This record gives sequence, C-alpha cells and structure tokens, in this order.
Amino acid sequence: MPITVVGSIAFDSVKTPFGERERMLGGAAVHFALAASFFEEVRVVGPVGEDFSDHHMEAMRTRGVNVSDVQRIAGGRTFFWRGEYGWDLNSRETLDTQLGVFEGFQPKLSQQSRASDVLFLANIQPDLQRDVRAQMPHARFVALDSMNLWIEVARDSLVSAIASVDCVILNDAELRQLTGKPNLVSAAREVLSWKRSAAAGDGPSVIVAKQGEYGAALVTRSGFFALPAYPLETVIDPTGAGDTFAGGLVGYIAAHSQEELSDELLRRAMARATVLASFNVEAFGTERIERLTREEIAARLRELRAITQFSSAP
Ligand code: AMP
Repeated sequence: MPITVVGSIAFDSVKTPFGERERMLGGAAVHFALAASFFEEVRVVGPVGEDFSDHHMEAMRTRGVNVSDVQRIAGGRTFFWRGEYGWDLNSRETLDTQLGVFEGFQPKLSQQSRASDVLFLANIQPDLQRDVRAQMPHARFVALDSMNLWIEVARDSLVSAIASVDCVILNDAELRQLTGKPNLVSAAREVLSWKRSAAAGDGPSVIVAKQGEYGAALVTRSGFFALPAYPLETVIDPTGAGDTFAGGLVGYIAAHSQEELSDELLRRAMARATVLASFNVEAFGTERIERLTREEIAARLRELRAITQFSSAP
C-alpha cells in the first residue's frame, strides 16, 4: 500500500567528531522516504524554498520517491537545522532551527496523496500533523514521530495527534518526558491508553521506543520485543537515524498490509528498521542510503538475525 509522508524537508548543517557538512539534504520526511522506498511507493508532502534545487529533488526521485506534492514556495527558504554531536555521538545540541517555508504552511494533500492507506506523520509541529491526519480519515495505518521541542512547546496538540494514530515512534527519553513516567514500559502503557475520545475509542496500539546505539523496544497491548542496534565500529553521523528507522518500519508494514498487524509482523519490521538505521549512520546525511542496495540490506539482516539468536538449551 502506498505511503504518504509529511514532515520536514530540510537543509542540515552537521558537525560530528568525524567532520562537518554544510546544508546537506535532510529533514525527517526525506530520511523517512528514502528508507521506506526500499519497500513501498512513497509520496512526500511538504514545502521547500527557492533554494531547494532540482539536484536535491533528484536524490529522492532516483530512489523512486514521488515528489509531485513537494511544493516550491516562491521567495521562500527551505527549513534549516544545525546540530553538533559530542565525542561519543550520544549527545546532540541543536544550534539553530529555521522553520522557513514551514512557518504558516497549510498542507493541502492532492487526491493521490490522500488515497494512500498508510500515513507517516514525521517530526514537525503537531498542529500540522493533526491537519494532515484530518485530511486522511480513512488511512488504515498511521504512525507518528515527534521530538522534545514539541513536547515542551505544544504538548496538548501532540497528545491529540498521538491519540489519532495507530503507532507512535519516539526516543525513549521523549517517551519518559511526554508521560512523566521514568519507567519505559509504564510510559509506553500510558500512551497505549490514550484514546481519541471515549466514544471514538482506538488510539495507538503500537509504541516503539528508540534507544540510539542500544537499539529499540516495541510495546503493544499483547507483548514486548527489543532489538539491539546493529554493532558498527564506525559511526560517522547519526542525523536522521530515527527517521530512517521509521522508514524501514513503516515501509515494511505497508508492503505487508495484506497481513494482519500481528506482533510477529511488527518484529520483522523492527529488524528492517534496525538494519536501515545502521546504514544511515555510516556516512553524513543521506549519502549512505542514497547508494544502498537491496543486497546489502539482505546481507545485514542475516547478520542481525545471527547475532540476536540464542538456543533454549538448559
Ligand atoms: P533525527 O536524527 O532522526 O532526530 O532527525 C534529524 C532530522 O530532523 C534532521 O534532518 C532535521 O532536519 C530534522 N529536524 C530537526 N529539528 C526539527 C524540527 N524542530 N522539526 C522538524 N524536523 C526537524
């Protein structure tokens, strides 16, 4: 089933202990779309400025991503983010965020984008996420990502957005911050209890807590699962790892939409997500995913499976 994604399309300036890059192609929706494109057709919705060139658009087109709903705003500036990582890459400081064309942006989805059965609300203002969700009331699977900034400045709107989706993908620290619960499983259970309204019911049934270099955990109403990150000796730039993870997860689920959304399917999706994210961090920005092959994905999946198996022998 095709996927529609809305979220930041950006220029990122990033400094890590291994080097720095100015104004690379980035943004949550871009990282997501490039990863998900290995599994399913993806349509990106969002604005860019006049500074966004055909060359940047081509990076998405080359991976088969549909960019016909990417709007170039005359006289506008593309979303810009600048960040710097500490020596072990676990800490990151945001030095600048310029919303540019996202300021006052009112998404209007085309008929084709609205027809997707799967929707990913990548990290952006929760009001925008809710607006897009409302335009796709019949989507069969909706997932959402967010960040500490929106928990701090727009918590109520974010909570409403979360109550309207099926799957929430957050960093473990964000899940704790959002719920005020120090225990990760309790925090996830709390979010699982958020309903759109007493009458409408539903609310999220899948919570994924990303834990950076330690991997990710999955909490559903019926179970728990966790995978470590794929062990890499060289990590160059973690920017976009979370969005790439989400692209692998949601992309795989969308490609298997004829199956029931079981914990078993979710575990397989977690493995794809982990593998895609591991490639993303091997180079700056989108560089590694742009030249990734299906064969490399398949080989790393086999390795991940091998290192996470153990026998039940006493
Ligand atoms: P991640 O490393 O997965 O947390 O995602 C990093 C990406 O998020 C970068 O490509 C940024 O362009 C984008 N980003 C950073 N801050 C924001 C924000 N406030 N809203 C939306 N996207 C953001």
